[in-house]
Amino acid sequence: MGAIKVESGKVVVLSYVLKDEGGEIIDEATAADPFPYLHGAENIVPGLEAALTGKLVGDKFEAVVSPREGFGERIGEPQIVPRSAFPEGMPIEVGMQFIASDGESEMPVWIVGQEGDELLVDNNHPLAGVTLHFAGTILAIRDALQEELSHGHPHGVDGLNTHDH
Ligand code: ZN
Repeated sequence: MGAIKVESGKVVVLSYVLKDEGGEIIDEATAADPFPYLHGAENIVPGLEAALTGKLVGDKFEAVVSPREGFGERIGEPQIVPRSAFPEGMPIEVGMQFIASDGESEMPVWIVGQEGDELLVDNNHPLAGVTLHFAGTILAIRDALQEELSHGHPHGVDGLNTHDH
């Protein structure tokens, strides 16, 4: 019997630090507040998922992920959209993400600026075009529960978290 390793259908629990090219910390998960994900379910960027495949509990990892294997290259420029295009009363702040719909397809967009009654809306992920530098440790690996597999994401480190969907 081999050691349990990172592969599709496993919930993997990580601590990690994510930095950009300049060494600026973009995101992190500590051992005290770790990050669980379901391997093989597009929970994390492809480049990191590939780097983690086959790793064992306790393994440390480092991965430099290009935009293409990360959040994509930037495509197009932010668009100016009048505040009135959004539902009245909906709170809007720079940094918020929305799902935009043209009636046929839906896409995520981000509010990247605001000036008076005009909003700057970008359909690029905030980390598009950024080379991602991950470093971390595999803290735990377990079989995903049936419900987690059907949802396509883990329910917390132990699979016990409830959520509303
Ligand atoms: Zn779920």
